[in-house]
Amino acid sequence: MSSTVQERKDFESTNTMKAVMGKYFTELCHGPAQGKKTAWCTSVGPAELLRALGFNVYFPENHGAMLGASRMATDLIPLANARGFSPDICSYLTSDIGSYLKGESPIQKMKLPGPPKADVLVFNTNQCRDVKDWFQFYAREWNVPCIGIHTPRAIGEVDEAMVNYVAGQIEALVEPLEHVAGTKLDRDRLSEVIGLSRQCTVLWKEVLETAAHVPSPITFFDGTIQMGPAVVLRGTQEAIDYYRLLLAELKERIAQGVAAVPGERFRIYWEGMPIWGKLKSLSTQFAELATCVVASTYCNSWIFEDLDPADPFRSMARAYSSIFICRSDDRKEAYIEEMSAKYRVDGILYHDAKTCPNNSNCRYELPQRIHKKTGKPFLILHGDLNDLRLFSEEQSRTNIEAFIEQLAQG
Ligand code: SF4
Repeated sequence: MSSTVQERKDFESTNTMKAVMGKYFTELCHGPAQGKKTAWCTSVGPAELLRALGFNVYFPENHGAMLGASRMATDLIPLANARGFSPDICSYLTSDIGSYLKGESPIQKMKLPGPPKADVLVFNTNQCRDVKDWFQFYAREWNVPCIGIHTPRAIGEVDEAMVNYVAGQIEALVEPLEHVAGTKLDRDRLSEVIGLSRQCTVLWKEVLETAAHVPSPITFFDGTIQMGPAVVLRGTQEAIDYYRLLLAELKERIAQGVAAVPGERFRIYWEGMPIWGKLKSLSTQFAELATCVVASTYCNSWIFEDLDPADPFRSMARAYSSIFICRSDDRKEAYIEEMSAKYRVDGILYHDAKTCPNNSNCRYELPQRIHKKTGKPFLILHGDLNDLRLFSEEQSRTNIEAFIEQLAQG
């Protein structure tokens, strides 16, 4: 079948993205030598506050994804296991700590020294407890502060009491962060960064929404690569400029009828974490099956429309407490239903990532409930974000083929 599949076209914008990301990593790694203080930040932590204080901002989860995508993770995880971190916990955490213990990082392939040491580590437990445990390891290693926000989990409505509770915690970070940064927070600069972050979010959302078009000009697999600037450069003009360029290319594709998966027959929603070391083979298999994975919860997790430059702390609290991962199952169900309708999907794929129960949403009957309401077939794929020992390629290929066959039979 593969011999008849038309070649998928890369985005022309991707070269610009590589340059933007390369510049980010170069500045990040050289920052400390130029006297910049480095703050490590969880992916949905208060990055705007750190940027406004002039920190070099580094996101270890992005490094975790790079360890997965480069397939370095599987060999590094056992080093963290030997140190006392269970093979059952977050494989971003174990592969990143393994990378530190071995002194090997994919960043070195860019001829850079590797992740910069932290002067302060700032977490938000909105996604899981693992991020705090992960950051505390480095805080002990380097004897630096580890501070953060404890966001409640399984949130139903993000009400005023919740926003005030979380906003108070973010505001309480200002003083200790000023102490590390050696400077006072400029509130106007914070509002400016929040404005830039919001613009980035709006553009990233527009990029993802082009996939509602039939045929879709972009796949989930493209999205996992294209999201880089939204993750590590939100709050900067570079990210905004990049998404304007990418959006223009996507609109052009739509105008010319260019499909991301030539001959698109089926459209799928991906729920859960990517399988970083298998993006290419999965993308190829879906293309061979003329199936486009059009949307995902994961790529949509970096949309923070609630950010408001006029109300920095409360709007950060609202935006960061509204993300899918920290919501109740009722909210998650409603969200997936809404997304499946918006993107006109034929079926839903749930990735049950062994080491990330926090972002595996198929363990408490949610797929069955959504199926009952929407009638959309679903598939549960067992694997992991980074630990490829937990993923059976053969089994998954067979299951995906059978699933698409089921869709074909309508
Ligand atoms: S959400 Fe999952 S993958 Fe992300 S840091 Fe937490 S446990 Fe790891």
